[in-house]
Amino acid sequence: MKLILLGPPGAGKGTQAQRLVDERGYVQLSTGEMLRAAVASGSPVGLQVKDVIDRGDLVSNEIICDIIAARIESPDCANGFVLDGFPRNVAQARTLDDLFKEKSIMIDAVIEITVDEGALLSRIEKRAAETGGERSDDNADVLENRLAVYREHTAPVSDYYAKTGALRQVDGMRTIDEVTEQINAILDASIK
Ligand code: AMP
Repeated sequence: MKLILLGPPGAGKGTQAQRLVDERGYVQLSTGEMLRAAVASGSPVGLQVKDVIDRGDLVSNEIICDIIAARIESPDCANGFVLDGFPRNVAQARTLDDLFKEKSIMIDAVIEITVDEGALLSRIEKRAAETGGERSDDNADVLENRLAVYREHTAPVSDYYAKTGALRQVDGMRTIDEVTEQINAILDASIK
């Protein structure tokens, strides 16, 4: 199963991706986590992207597409993966299309978790409290920019996949379990 999860910051992509890892054995490919690991390791890429992440802007397409292209090659991805946080703009979606074509990979589902914007700040604040402020971008000021970036660059990615007929939406305002159920129903239908 090759799956793309879309949705604004705080929609629950990471939570749902983790459940797919636990319950279905998929590999989670979270570009945000990969970048945070690069920052923590002090690698050249990490040094390059730290300020960008702290501001809530997008890191360059070149950096992120190179990371994803290399990661998808790994043997553990052969049986399926969940992309969480990628693609984040239409150029990345096009690059992903090219990459999949080159590797004869078929995407099985694109699922957008839709959430009322008003609910996002409290969710991010809750996450910051739960993780002990582990993420430098989980605060009200940076969230405002992350949402602006989402509206301008990432929301069009949903339109992109709507046009190809691949987009499915689930109601992210429901409980975590109910969102999981909606996602499972879509995945089960796409397996049949
Ligand atoms: P996330 O954990 O998905 O919320 O991502 C945290 C931050 O990492 C984002 O605010 C961006 O700065 C950066 N990032 C993650 N994924 C991407 C991507 N696909 N393209 C560009 N920047 C990204």
